[in-house]
Amino acid sequence: MTSQRTRDRLVARLRANGIEDPRVLAVMGREPRHLFLDEALSHRAYEDTSLPIGHGQTLSQPWIVARMTELVINEAPERVLEVGSGSGYQTLILSRLVPEVWSIERITALYRRAGERLRRLKVFNVRLRLADGGHGWPEAAPFDVILLTACASELPEVLLAQLADGGRLITPLEEADGSQWLTQVCRHGDTFDYQRLEPVRFVPLLQGVIR
Ligand code: SAH
Repeated sequence: MTSQRTRDRLVARLRANGIEDPRVLAVMGREPRHLFLDEALSHRAYEDTSLPIGHGQTLSQPWIVARMTELVINEAPERVLEVGSGSGYQTLILSRLVPEVWSIERITALYRRAGERLRRLKVFNVRLRLADGGHGWPEAAPFDVILLTACASELPEVLLAQLADGGRLITPLEEADGSQWLTQVCRHGDTFDYQRLEPVRFVPLLQGVIR
């Protein structure tokens, strides 16, 4: 159930659903999503569905990981910040396609487990931090891309300020009617261009650290 054939089927499905970037498809066909789930769920790892990872959080659906990764690598970024490491799976996919990745998680247990998994897979170009990602990672800024994997209720100004000129913030954003939209904000000097992409469903971005 975790065989290459199962992964190939997922890739075919992603392609059928509009994922086009061959680099993203290749990495997702190769990397072991089942290692980012509890054993009881690992047989479902290559279904195109989100799955629980404990603490009320979810490993995002493969399609959305693929879509967000396509957006992230669009302009060949060198430095990417992810807010919401969760299981670490999206972090892994990014690490294979971007030279340097920083990723922040606020729940201690998830932060630890993500670190163990990434070390086991010999991922050396990722730095993880246990913190409230709403503050960003000022010492490592500016970033070419900042990706949020939890839904913000307003555009996070602190994070926008940590974008390089020409950099992009990609985030699920909740609108006044409660709907969530994948949103991209591009920085040009002090101007920010806002682009609404597609409807999504994410867990909320929350404040503080859970020890
Ligand atoms: N990319 C992850 C998605 C996990 S769900 C994966 O593929 O597994 C979103 C994650 O964002 C959760 O782990 C949640 O704890 C985390 N999160 C929510 N608010 C946060 C914040 N302010 N700072 C850091 N992480 C946050």
